[in-house]
Amino acid sequence: MKFPCVDFHTHLDLYDDPSAAVAQIESQGILTLASSMDLASYRVNRELSARSRFIIPTFGIHPARSGSCFDETELDMALNSSPILGECGLDALWVTDVPIRRQTQVFERILAHAHERGKYCVVHTKDAEEKVLDMAKAFPRARLVIHWYSGSVATYKRYLDMPFLFTYGCELRYSAHIRELLSMTPLERVLPETDNPVAEPWLGGTTDEPMLIRRVIEDIAREKGFEAEDAAATMADKARHILFESGVVLPA
Ligand SMILES: [Zn+2]
Repeated sequence: MKFPCVDFHTHLDLYDDPSAAVAQIESQGILTLASSMDLASYRVNRELSARSRFIIPTFGIHPARSGSCFDETELDMALNSSPILGECGLDALWVTDVPIRRQTQVFERILAHAHERGKYCVVHTKDAEEKVLDMAKAFPRARLVIHWYSGSVATYKRYLDMPFLFTYGCELRYSAHIRELLSMTPLERVLPETDNPVAEPWLGGTTDEPMLIRRVIEDIAREKGFEAEDAAATMADKARHILFESGVVLPA
């Protein structure tokens, strides 16, 4: 069965063999948003994107990298050149070496740009879900795509009251909590992601190639009670619409 595949959040630059990943993305036609973690990672993702029309590089500063010093001009250029932003956000669990105050400053800078330009923004919220929500409310024209939300159901209900979209990925297979969150979310607000190449091996799986997105789409479809082809088409249409709105020229 063939269906359209979109991977709305992956880290192409982190692959041991990015060329092999790019070749699979190109041969399988996987529309791929290559999120960046900082300026250096954005540079690599832009270079990789030149090798496949299916790869859209996006700039962001991951909370883990927000402790570095950034050249303001370079930061502005990267923000301006990126049609969609990501990965950015806050992490109060895994990121122990960058104080939340510093993470907040950097995230605020990115949200302010997204708000000013009405850009979509892929956001990390680990153990900082409430704070991210408060910050998002101050920048209502930033269009948040919440990546791998894993906080409480109570807070998620408040997220659902906002016009956010949500990426779901590999953990669906492993976590009843993630499946419960997905069950609360209309398919029209869901986008698939792999968070490759780190996520699936971290969860105990073995696959970390781009085609993992196919399994993710099948898992989402099953949980939502759709045929995989139908769920894939709905999510691909949504992604293409977002990219169109963001001024990205898509392959036919
Ligand atoms: Zn990520």
